[in-house]
Amino acid sequence: MKTIREITDLKNKKVLLRVDFDVPVRSLGEGGRVAEITEPFRIKKQKAMIDWLVERGAKVVMVAHLHEDNSSFSNLIPQLHILLGREVGFIKKIEDIDGYLANYPGVGLLDNIRNPTVAGLGEKENSRELAEKLSKGFDIYINNDFAVCHRDHASVSAITEFLPSFAGLLVQEETVQLRKAIDAPKSGKIVIIGGAKAETKVPIVKNFISKAELILLGGVVANDVLKERGQDMGSSIVDENSKELLAGLDINDPKLLVPEDFVVFDNKILDIGEKTIKKYVDVISGASVVIWNGPMGLFENPTFATGTQKIAEAIAESSAYKIIGGGDTIVAISKFRNIDISKFNFVSTGGGAMLIFLAGQRLPGLEALGYYQN
Ligand code: ADP
Ligand code: MG
Repeated sequence: MKTIREITDLKNKKVLLRVDFDVPVRSLGEGGRVAEITEPFRIKKQKAMIDWLVERGAKVVMVAHLHEDNSSFSNLIPQLHILLGREVGFIKKIEDIDGYLANYPGVGLLDNIRNPTVAGLGEKENSRELAEKLSKGFDIYINNDFAVCHRDHASVSAITEFLPSFAGLLVQEETVQLRKAIDAPKSGKIVIIGGAKAETKVPIVKNFISKAELILLGGVVANDVLKERGQDMGSSIVDENSKELLAGLDINDPKLLVPEDFVVFDNKILDIGEKTIKKYVDVISGASVVIWNGPMGLFENPTFATGTQKIAEAIAESSAYKIIGGGDTIVAISKFRNIDISKFNFVSTGGGAMLIFLAGQRLPGLEALGYYQN
């Protein structure tokens, strides 16, 4: 994979930079015209790449997506200024990029590339026409949005056919760190998987069952395994198709730890219980590498957040090499005021892309950058 570090001269180079500004936003009124970014982690992680390019004299136009296809970055520009520590010029439509580059007042951001009023249709269809149009006027393309790399989209994949293309600092870091997680020696390597979307989590369990010493389960993923082991799950959330989901995995493998007690409300398992917390914390304290994705319970309700919080604390305090990620996992950590996120060696911005990478599957966005040798 070619990375941006290989380019020595960026002075006055016009750079199309794919960034990740897909953050949760809360409307503060006026029909959504006043909005607040509630979790800025992903935006902050873009700052280093932007600064790096500006310091080297590049002219940068950023391209990104936001939520639904009709969303716009227009209301978020003032918050972007603050989070990135610099002014960000707002480019309404793809046709305006030429003029923007000609005047170049500083780093710019094209509005939501998935919004048809900004770039027409074609982003999600990986349209070569859109990619070609987008490439016009630029010298190079940099992908610094790891979280979108599981999408075969025009500003991620097709664009690489029209410009010399490079992995940005963050995409490089994510691939190095997550590769490290997969390749670290099996002995002492612990993987903790929780959360709700079992269809995205079970493939990771399957990939790591032969690569980790132990896999600790929580959340709905654990429910599915317990159900298949014949346990009565009451009204707990379980996947209808848990049998198919778990096919190919030995659910009685001794390397797979499942909760032994629970916090139950309304006949639903909503958190792991005290005995399980103690057991998991014990395992974590002896680990040399910990990989964690997915809350242990319904952490949004403080009554059911204890399992997730205790596990997070144990990981943060352990001397292991700690890699964590997942949209809700990061939200959970930032809720627990006593946990300092900098205690984790690496926090992935990846979300779905991270899950697919950890499951050992290929990501089209990385493929387009030449990450896979064959
Ligand atoms: P991530 O975004 O970190 O990958 P997921 O999206 O897979 O995690 O899952 C997070 C969600 O899982 C949270 O909203 C949490 O409330 C929910 N969850 C975890 N355990 C349970 C449970 N036992 N019952 C219901 N929901 C749960
Ligand atoms: Mg999630």
